[in-house]
Amino acid sequence: MTSFADITTMGVGGPIAHFIEPTTRVGLIEAVEDADSKGLPLVVIGGGSNLLVSDEPFGGVVVRDARRQITVPDEAAPVEGSDRTVHINAEAGANWDDFVAFTVQLGLEGVEGLSGIPGTVGASVVQNIGAYGQEVATSVESVEVWDRETKTTRDLTPADLRFGYRYSALKASMYAAPARPADRFFPTPRYVVLSVTFALTHSAEGTVGYEQLAKALGVEVGDRMATADIREAVLKVRAAKGMLEDPTRYTSPAMAGTKREANILADLRRLASVNESAGIALGDDGLPVPDRNRHSCGSFFMNPILTADEASALPEDAPRFPATLPDGTSGVKTSAAWLIDHAGCHKGYRVADDASASLSTQHTLALTNRGEATATDVEALARAVQRAVKDHFGVTLVPEPVCVGVLSDLDA
Ligand SMILES: Cc1cc2nc3c(=O)[nH]c(=O)nc-3n(C[C@H](O)[C@H](O)[C@H](O)COP(=O)(O)OP(=O)(O)OC[C@H]3O[C@@H](n4cnc5c(N)ncnc54)[C@H](O)[C@@H]3O)c2cc1C
Repeated sequence: MTSFADITTMGVGGPIAHFIEPTTRVGLIEAVEDADSKGLPLVVIGGGSNLLVSDEPFGGVVVRDARRQITVPDEAAPVEGSDRTVHINAEAGANWDDFVAFTVQLGLEGVEGLSGIPGTVGASVVQNIGAYGQEVATSVESVEVWDRETKTTRDLTPADLRFGYRYSALKASMYAAPARPADRFFPTPRYVVLSVTFALTHSAEGTVGYEQLAKALGVEVGDRMATADIREAVLKVRAAKGMLEDPTRYTSPAMAGTKREANILADLRRLASVNESAGIALGDDGLPVPDRNRHSCGSFFMNPILTADEASALPEDAPRFPATLPDGTSGVKTSAAWLIDHAGCHKGYRVADDASASLSTQHTLALTNRGEATATDVEALARAVQRAVKDHFGVTLVPEPVCVGVLSDLDA
């Protein structure tokens, strides 16, 4: 029986009563509609890289879209004037980094900075993934969804999608308040993504949009460079922080076929070279040794956006960036990683010496499974970190992953 531990990057979570992998669009809609009409709990899962699920058996339905086609409808269309826009459509189940690699190979600019983010195309628009100065929102033309409320398909425009920082109308449909699940449509949004159409630019060069990346490339922010070089630099910077998924997970039967083989091999080679430079030999199976720092959900807490008053109570050296509060007024974004570290939870922090969940030894913001952790262990770590930050700075950190059956109360 498949369990959430088998199909999530954190590697925790209980057994699943019904695990379905539809291979057609109609099959996907039917699986969702069938669960909804029977009133069964439903999780539409992608790569499981933003999900923390309880250890209890899950009595509902888990649907993983097995459609992974990427097409370029404009390919045969004549270029009009100087418009270099190229539309590209990907089915929701396509692996996100397969998609990015494909666009870079095709000579398209727009998502190269999002290289190496785990998960699927379908989920990329749920939380508006972002990194290194890019967000998926800027490249999305439209999202085809199944609306679980009206039981119809719809094409949502960027205006409908209301993208914000790790936010969209899809995500909003799951929550009554930050991290508080809504009565309906949790842990899967009201709108199930069927496919996404992106508008990219025909260009083999992209803009370096982030200081850390510019440093790694030896250029200035705003400089233009080959998108292939930006992609490689992003993957290197992410590897150094443990912010890539562990490619050895794709060698397990539960993940078979979910990512293109050539890309898995390239990722395994990159991990082997990271291992090698750390003096680690290949495992007995000939594969690179799993990197426990990557057994995470990425950043576990969102960077808090505070009112000016709240921000003024922070120490002077706390990072501060201009931001917009949910009500549209201006606020101040600070760094969750800084708060955690300055609250005394440093890299590698664990609640007890023998705890099997810890903060990554490479990144304060990643909660990781060191091998034998359960969801209960990860929850205990998350609560300890949340409490330390609350006690030190009066700020309540909000988890970024979708937490199912765990961490549903914020201030405990
Ligand atoms: C090592 C690591 C690094 C990361 N770095 C980043 C980063 O830099 N930036 C960033 O933004 N995120 C990052 N993440 C988080 C994660 O990769 C993204 O949130 C990703 O988009 C999740 O995709 P998924 O397919 O794994 O979603 P899942 O974890 O499978 O699901 C997450 C949510 O999306 C919903 N969902 C999934 N598929 C669909 C669909 N077809 N239709 C509707 N809802 C759907 C699920 O129901 C669930 O609510 C990182 C995670 C890890 C493990």
